[in-house]
Formats: sequence, C-alpha cells, structure tokens
Amino acid sequence: RRNLPDPNLEALLVNGSNGKMQPKSGGYMSSLKSASDVRSLARSGDICLEDVHFSYPLRPDVEILQGLDLTLKCGTVTALVGPSGAGKSTVVQLLARFYEPTRGRITVAGEDLRSFDKSEWARVVSIVNQEPVLFSVSVGENIAYGLPDDYVSRDDVIKAAKAANAHEFIISLPQGYDTLVGERGGLLSGGQRQRIAIARALLKNAPILILDEATSALDTVSERLVQDALSRLMKGRTTLVIAHRLSTVQNADQIALCSEGKIAGLGTHSALLEKKGLYASLVGTQRLAFE
Ligand code: ATP
Repeated sequence: RRNLPDPNLEALLVNGSNGKMQPKSGGYMSSLKSASDVRSLARSGDICLEDVHFSYPLRPDVEILQGLDLTLKCGTVTALVGPSGAGKSTVVQLLARFYEPTRGRITVAGEDLRSFDKSEWARVVSIVNQEPVLFSVSVGENIAYGLPDDYVSRDDVIKAAKAANAHEFIISLPQGYDTLVGERGGLLSGGQRQRIAIARALLKNAPILILDEATSALDTVSERLVQDALSRLMKGRTTLVIAHRLSTVQNADQIALCSEGKIAGLGTHSALLEKKGLYASLVGTQRLAFE
C-alpha cells in the first residue's frame, strides 16, 4: 500500500505556490471559516460526500470516483470496504484534502469543505495509517508530535499512552519515554509503532478520525492491544475506517461497500450479507479489502 502523499507538497501541487485556496472554482477565498467555526462544525455536523467525482491530476482521463455519495454521521463509525482499486484510499485523500473533488462536493454540517482553511481542517482531523510515520526523536516526543510544547504535559502524554495500551512497553524501554525510537521508529515493532500513533491521535483529540486499518499480520497479543486501543480512539468521533478486519466491520455503525468509484451498498453487516452480493463474497473470502 502506498503512503499518503505529503500534504504540504500536495497543497503546492494542487493549490498553487502559497498552499492556499485559489479562487479558480468559486469565491471561497473571501469567506474562509474561522478556527472556532471549523472546530464547532467538525464536532457537531455530519460529513457528506455528495456526487463526488475525482480524477488524479496525472491521469485526468481516468475517473476514479464516479459520483460517490456517502454520509458519515457525526460521532459514529463508518467502515469502508471493497475490492482493491475501488477507490477507498482516494476517498481518504479527499477527506484529508490532499486533493479536491473534480466535481461534486464534500460538506461538513452542510458547509462546503472548500470554505475551511486547510490548516484549520488538519487540526480537526486525525489520520492513522497502516504504517505510521515516526520521527527519530524520543517516544514521548513522538506522541506529542505536532502539538505545542506548552499545551502538552508529560502527564498528558502518559495518559494517552495508557489509553493506547502503549505505557507498559514504553516503561520497559531502556530510557522509558525518553528512549529514542531510531530512524522511522525502526527500534519498535509494527504493533508498538501503531500504538504510538494511536496515542498521538488520542492526545490530539480531533473530532474526526480517518483510519486505514493495518493488514499486516500482528501477533495475537499485539493485535488485541491495537484493536482495543483503536476502539477507545474511535469512541465518540466521526470515524471513517478502511476496514480489513471482520471484527471492525461488524462493530461499525454502518458499512459502505465501495466498488468502481461508487458506493454500491450501505447498511449493517447482516443487512448487506442478506443481499448475497459483492459484500457477501468479500466476507466469504475474508477479503474485505485486498492488498
Ligand atoms: P486498495 O485496497 O488496493 O488500496 P483502494 O480501494 O484503496 O485499493 P485506491 O488506492 O483509491 O483504491 O485506488 C483507486 C485507483 O486510483 C487505482 O486504480 C489506482 O491505481 C489509482 N490511483 C491511486 N493513486 C493514484 C495517483 N496518485 N495517481 C493516479 N492514479 C492513482
């Protein structure tokens, strides 16, 4: 699975040299929402993808999303499943605003996402990837990464690490929270890196969560610790999870089946199974998403 692109780089590519919205497709420049409006809309409103079409800039002839409609209800979990190449990661990239829809729109509490400043939007969204990016600083600094120093105390970091099931392994490291994680977190196992990323997201406490669930095999204990931490992280947040595990799918409030750039089915696990279509066959082969 490819990594998501660097948001700053994308901002340059998509929106011009200053990373700000260009007024090419509407007059949003003059009416960007204030930081507090962005926060309160993100906390209180549904996120709707409305007839979203999208082609990547380098392949303008290929329409990846072809009129996708999906509502993420505020404070609930939507699992996005579907075959490889269906467009699941592309949906994530649009929600993260690495790209903008080529047609259609995304709204938050009824407001067009293009009227939100990108950096304010980034503050209200946490993205947890399969392969979290760790920096070669200490474990504690990795958890607090991106948050202002005067805002995060060591106690806050420890509290987040405990909720992420990371505290126990951290205190067993040679220098505890001050242990350097090595280049790209190389001194930690995959499951440990994921729990650091979950702790970071818990500390950020953003109301919107985008989760790309890991497919790589973790050992059973590590997997249970990660799953448990993720359930804690999702609680009460508007969550979209690209789900690979049946347990995540079954516990989601709704499941959206993505196929060929559209939502081809929406409902609970049992309702979708009953239709005996693509969803049932994905579950049958345990391949809710393919790598
Ligand atoms: P998977 O489960 O395999 O990750 P997916 O459902 O997440 O698949 P996407 O990653 O959204 O699917 O890809 C949808 C289509 O978009 C694929 O055909 C892919 O090759 C194409 N695609 C993805 N990223 C780019 C890009 N940066 N430029 C051009 N095409 C891309």
